[in-house]
Amino acid sequence: MVLHLVPRCSARLFWASPGWRRTYTQGTSVGLTSLGCPRHRHSPMARRGYSSASGSPEVMLTPERYPVQRLPFSTVSEEDLAAFERIVPGRVVTDPEQLEAYNVDWLRSVRGCSKVLLRPQTSEEVSQILRHCYKRNLAVNPQGGNTGLVGGSVPVFDEVILSTALMNQVISFHDVSGILVCQAGCVLEDLNAYVQERDFVMPLDLGAKGSCHIGGNVATNAGGLRFLRYGSLRGTVLGLEVVLADGTILNCLTSLRKDNTGYDLKQLFIGSEGTLGVITAVSILCPPRPKAVNVAFLGCPGFAEVLQTFSTCKGMLGEILSAFEFMDSECMQLVRQHLHLTNPVQESPFYVLVETSGSSAAHDAEKLTSVLEQMLNSGLVSDGTMATDQRKIQTLWALRERITEALSRDGCVFKYDISLPVERLYDLVIDVRARLGPRAKHVVGYGHLGDGNLHLNVTAEAFSQELLGALEPYVYSWTAEQRGSVSAEHGLGFKKKNVLGYSKPPEAMKLMQQLKVLLDPKGILNPYKTLPARA
Ligand SMILES: Cc1cc2nc3c(=O)[nH]c(=O)nc-3n(C[C@H](O)[C@H](O)[C@H](O)COP(=O)(O)OP(=O)(O)OC[C@H]3O[C@@H](n4cnc5c(N)ncnc54)[C@H](O)[C@@H]3O)c2cc1C
Repeated sequence: MVLHLVPRCSARLFWASPGWRRTYTQGTSVGLTSLGCPRHRHSPMARRGYSSASGSPEVMLTPERYPVQRLPFSTVSEEDLAAFERIVPGRVVTDPEQLEAYNVDWLRSVRGCSKVLLRPQTSEEVSQILRHCYKRNLAVNPQGGNTGLVGGSVPVFDEVILSTALMNQVISFHDVSGILVCQAGCVLEDLNAYVQERDFVMPLDLGAKGSCHIGGNVATNAGGLRFLRYGSLRGTVLGLEVVLADGTILNCLTSLRKDNTGYDLKQLFIGSEGTLGVITAVSILCPPRPKAVNVAFLGCPGFAEVLQTFSTCKGMLGEILSAFEFMDSECMQLVRQHLHLTNPVQESPFYVLVETSGSSAAHDAEKLTSVLEQMLNSGLVSDGTMATDQRKIQTLWALRERITEALSRDGCVFKYDISLPVERLYDLVIDVRARLGPRAKHVVGYGHLGDGNLHLNVTAEAFSQELLGALEPYVYSWTAEQRGSVSAEHGLGFKKKNVLGYSKPPEAMKLMQQLKVLLDPKGILNPYKTLPARA
């Protein structure tokens, strides 16, 4: 049992391949800082190729796979297109080839048939678009980076796609408070680079950072890799500007830490997945950039040891513990097979990634080393490696961050994003593996253990109704029995909207429906998503 203080794996960067992030001619507006230039091409999503030339099979139209009926919205007419052209001149896309990428989700699991994509640059333009759509009864699908994993980001039928990609300006940054105000279409990775130059970090980080937008993050209440340290967006988002379904601009874009005047309306829109309004700008509190970051990657002999490792780290590392992630051996097998990443430690049934963020490099490294040595000696950990420099840290993080990408290369993926009491977290994976037997190609478990969040993923050669039937509602009932949540951080979107009842009582669901009617009486915003269809 050896603790390697440098990783054995190659130190090359894994994200060197060109990202698929779309680039547009940047809009400029006086006094704002434009982001989104292709400075940072660290996207792990180079896989994305929509054309059939990429060799990937055609994605089935959503209504062909799922039982869903088009609601009686209007269809886009020539007059509508002319009106849109007046509102966003030169930024109305109707070319079917260009539209393809916006009609299909990242997982290539759902596909709409929208005929038009609009690319506003300002909140006023969003307001005019929605005013027109509301009057004409046209359904609208707000879209950020289109990295959502529950089919919420693309149309189900022919909804108008409203993309925030050109709303990518920083409005202000205050270098004493760390409060950033920006437009909703800023890419998370660009924002992080922007605030890092000023000695701050974004309070959230996720594998999709090279493509997802801050507006999309807020709309999904994204969790991610820094949740353990900085908590939920419900705490760090200080204000929002939102355009309502009828075009009203609701300006709650305050930058106050404390504000107890009336109801906290921004909370309604955080996690509402584009069903209550279009988020156009965000005010968010950024924490100071930690001076020292260390990462350890460890092998554990069993899940009981993973849990004990977590308790030990919490107890001994205290306030410098900033992430605690776990993955099972099948995840490791997939990142090796599909992405050619190297396992830096000896083969183990489980792996954990421990990150510390503090103010003293030497002190933090010493503290982490002594915790790791203790865990090695007590048998909680069978092997480990530690990194203190940025390049090696990224190499270790890639093993965990790129699991989603490796899974998507393994075939058709059935994804479950579950909150559970931490001690039961892996039992669900074991049960599902036994239940499916050889019908599944892989059944894997990984996730944000520190937040009690399991990502259970099942892969198969192709979509199969029979496999889906074996998984659902089994996974949801199992979760409900533990009083868990059937969506910890990805939201409900289109694919999970009918399982809301497993995690919320009928009274709460009724109130949600009433709020939807109040804010969007015609139901034009992201229909068929988040809430179950009304009887
Ligand atoms: C590789 C990978 C790793 C991921 N890791 C994580 C993770 O660790 N944690 C996590 O929580 N998620 C994760 N995700 C899921 C996804 O990245 C997040 O849900 C992200 O917040 C979506 O942002 P987006 O800009 O891509 O939004 P989109 O995918 O475009 O949209 C998501 C939803 O938000 C709505 N929406 C988007 N923008 C707006 C807006 N401005 N106003 C109103 N509604 C809007 C859409 O209508 C849709 O319902 C991951 C995805 C991938 C592909």
